[in-house]
Formats: sequence, structure tokens, C-alpha cells
Amino acid sequence: MKIAYISCEMCPIAKVGGLADVSLGLAREVQAQGHEVFTILPFFSCIKAQYLTSLTLTSFTYTVYFNNVKEHVRVWQAKLYDLNLYLLEPTTAPTLFDRPHIYGYRDDARRFSFFSLIALEFIAGFKPKTELIHLNEWHTSLVAPLYREHYHKRLKSKIVLTLHNINYQGNAYYTLLEKIGLPKEKYVSTLHHSPKIKNHVNFLELGILYSDFITTVSPKYAEEIMSVRQGSGLHEILIKNKHKLIGILNGIDNQMWDPQSDPALTTHYTYNHIDKKHACKDQLRKLLDIPLKANSPLVICICRLVPQKGLHMIKKAILHTLECGGQFILFGSSPIAKIQHDFDQLKEKLHHDPNVKLIFDSYNEELAHQIYAGADLIICPSLFEPCGLTQLIACRYGTVPIVRQTGGLANTVFDVDEYSSGNGFTYLPPTRKAISETLERAFAIYHDDPKRWKEIIKTGMQMDFSWKQSAKEYLKVYQQLVEHPLNLVNQ
Ligand code: ADP
Repeated sequence: MKIAYISCEMCPIAKVGGLADVSLGLAREVQAQGHEVFTILPFFSCIKAQYLTSLTLTSFTYTVYFNNVKEHVRVWQAKLYDLNLYLLEPTTAPTLFDRPHIYGYRDDARRFSFFSLIALEFIAGFKPKTELIHLNEWHTSLVAPLYREHYHKRLKSKIVLTLHNINYQGNAYYTLLEKIGLPKEKYVSTLHHSPKIKNHVNFLELGILYSDFITTVSPKYAEEIMSVRQGSGLHEILIKNKHKLIGILNGIDNQMWDPQSDPALTTHYTYNHIDKKHACKDQLRKLLDIPLKANSPLVICICRLVPQKGLHMIKKAILHTLECGGQFILFGSSPIAKIQHDFDQLKEKLHHDPNVKLIFDSYNEELAHQIYAGADLIICPSLFEPCGLTQLIACRYGTVPIVRQTGGLANTVFDVDEYSSGNGFTYLPPTRKAISETLERAFAIYHDDPKRWKEIIKTGMQMDFSWKQSAKEYLKVYQQLVEHPLNLVNQ
């Protein structure tokens, strides 16, 4: 099958969060399972091009009309590992992607509606035999209505949209639709908004309505987003379209995340040689100037500091770990100034204690690998979590997860006190008390029952969170759509 992935993130050249890992991991595994795959991204000026090989300008150029202006696009081709990438560069509108960051601009809706248009036009002109187009998030959702409106005669493709986090939906005043050639009345949002926000377009809503199939990144999250509490206003539309919605768990790239061969580590280990993980812990503590205290559990948290991640529980976990004689590394920063300021203050308050390091680096791949390998425990106290990757990576590196039972966290971490083959610790109430008690449960086994602790580590390390199984599930969806198409889309 010929499959196009359209995404705004790709690990490691354009990474903001988990979407980047998924874009790379899924496409590579689907390709490895024998399909013809290519990925389309905007040519952001902030792309880390040093990771690309054979970056070349193709002779393929084309034009689109955007806001009634003829825009020219040229196409770069590159390899990322074994994957074919096409990077689209609008030569007459260079400022759209020539920015220091990927997202976070007032004109993001404009930027990504333009990208949706040029991505689809690229497929129609350059890869017209593409059978399956896989969209990700709101940024590329407008491909679905564009296809219905203008491209269904030039292309015979099916469209799948993956919802990675439905809290980010993409909104704009509906005249934006006219800029990309969509009639605004037909595609205006039907969601219940306050009268103040009338005549809006909701990108994700259109993606859900006009894609042939919707996936999200864990079975539990698929259930959760059909509820009022977690549907972020889209629950009714999702319920109406549940015949074309499933949750498929994200995987991780087992080659990239492998404690046996990880180039970021100086000591390598497997589940048969867990003792060697101690060397990674000491190397990490030396690197970060953390005392080499014996019998002190090293707890980590690696995440973007946004409300979703359960910030009050993260703070409590830091303080409680220290109270219990443990050590803590927080790795990540906040895109929200107020939250960052809050954590800056916490760092200031704790600066005298060498057992805690708050590292506000938004992206450092090598250090992330060293932290996963060197830690004993990772916390993921998210209020909601579509899938979550850090608990999966942690398991692979023998770092035991403590998670709130929500979304993909609930589908991947099983409490050792409930399951004989548990791989971590779970709790439900989103409270400081609940995370403190769960930390204490974990510390008790760590200190008093080293044999059981080793078993927990081993169980986690032996779990298969690779993309193999998940890619098979995606392929089942693709094949069903391409080979036995049902007419699932609202016309
Ligand atoms: P989200 O997509 O909400 O950010 P996920 O858990 O799905 O959360 O994915 C987070 C990804 O980002 C993981 O691969 C994690 O290792 C990575 N990550 C988070 N913070 C950093 C950082 N400071 N440096 C490097 N990687 C990071």
C-alpha cells in the first residue's frame, strides 16, 4: 500500500512532544512491514537538518491559491534513517515557516491551513497513486474537508486522522476557510459555542467529520474523549462518529530507546544484567552533581510543564521524595510564563539541597536518555494523558513508573499490588495525598524487598511496547478502508 503521513513534528528534526516520536515510529514500522511510505512536513527553518541525509531540492515545484494569491512551493527530499521525507517550502510565503519555533504564533491557524492545502496539492501532483493519507492533530485536519471538496476526483485515497490530544483543536474565524478555497457556510463549526464566538471554524471538528476513520492513541483515551468531562466540547461529535473511532496504543522506537546499545550511555544493560543500571545511576548523579547517597531512590519526571501533567502533584512528589530521603530530577520546561515562573521559584527555594535538580531544558535528547537509564522511578501524575510515552520509555530502561490511572497510562501500567505481573504503581485521585502515598508504597518495596523490586524492573523491561503490534492494528484499519471501503464519511 502507498501511504502518506502528514505531520508537523518528526523526531528528532522537529520535536515538541510525543507527536514527533509517533510520526517517526509508526511510519518506520509500517514501512518495515512492507509498505511504501513517505512523510510530508513543512520546511520549518528551525528543523534540525543535521539529522537528515541526502537533503536535495527536487525539480518538482507547484503553485496553489491562498487568499487569492498564487503561491509557489518547492519540494525538498531527504532521508531520515530509512524513511523518505518531503519538506515543503513556500518560496513566495517564506515567513510562514521561517520562525524560531514550530508552534505558538498568533497566525498558527493560517500557517497550518496553508500547510494542509500544499500537502494535499503535493500528493495530488507528485504522488497521485497514494492510497492512504494519514493526518495528525488539528494542524493537518483541514486536509479532510479539502479532499472532499476539491480533490476526490484527482485522488482515490482514504483519509485517517489521529487525535493525539483533543484539547488542541485549532480555531479561527470562518473566513479563513475561503483562503484555502472552502465555502465558509458549509464548514462553519456546529459546536455549541457562546454567542461571542459565532462563525468559527474548528479544525479538529472538520477532521473528525470528513476523515474516513479516526484513531486516537490509547483505548482508554478513546472512551474518555466521548465523555462530557474529557471530550473538550467534541464528545457529541465523537459519539455520533464512534463507528469510525478506535484507540490504538502508541509504541516506542525500540532501536532508538535501547539500554543495550544506547549511544548516550557509557554502560549498557539488559533485563538479565540489571545490576549494571547502578553504574548509569552513578554516572548520571556525577554528571548532575547529585550526591552518591546509598539506598536513595532516584525519582524523575520528564515532561512539558503544562496543566495537563498534574503540576500540583509533581511539586508534591518532589518535596515528598526529599522528605523520604530520595533524590529527584525534574526535566522539562513550560511554554507558559506563569508556570515557568512558579517552577523557577521552587528551584530557588530548593537550591540549597543537592538531592534535587530542576532542569528547565525543553529538549535535550542525550540527557533525556541518560536520565531514563539512571533513574529508579518515574512519575506521570497527569490529569489526563492520551497515551504518554515517558512511562513506556522508562519501562524499557528498567525505571519503574508511578502513574495516575488515566488514558494510556491506565492501559500500560499495572499496579504490582493488584497484578502478579505488575510493572509499576498506579493511583486514581488527582491529589497530593494520593501521589505521596503511592511514592511511599514504592519506596517501601525499594528499601525492604530488593528481590521483588528487581522482579518489577524485569517485568517492565520485558513488556513489548514496540511499534510492531500497534502498526499491525493501524494496517488493519488502512486495509479495511482501502480494500473494503464503507461509506463512513458524512457527505
Ligand atoms: P506530550 O506529547 O504530552 O509532551 P508524551 O509523554 O506523549 O507527552 O511525550 C513526551 C516526549 O517528549 C517523550 O519522548 C519524552 O522523552 C520527550 N521529552 C519531554 N521533555 C523532554 C526534554 N526536556 N528533553 C528531551 N525530551 C523530552
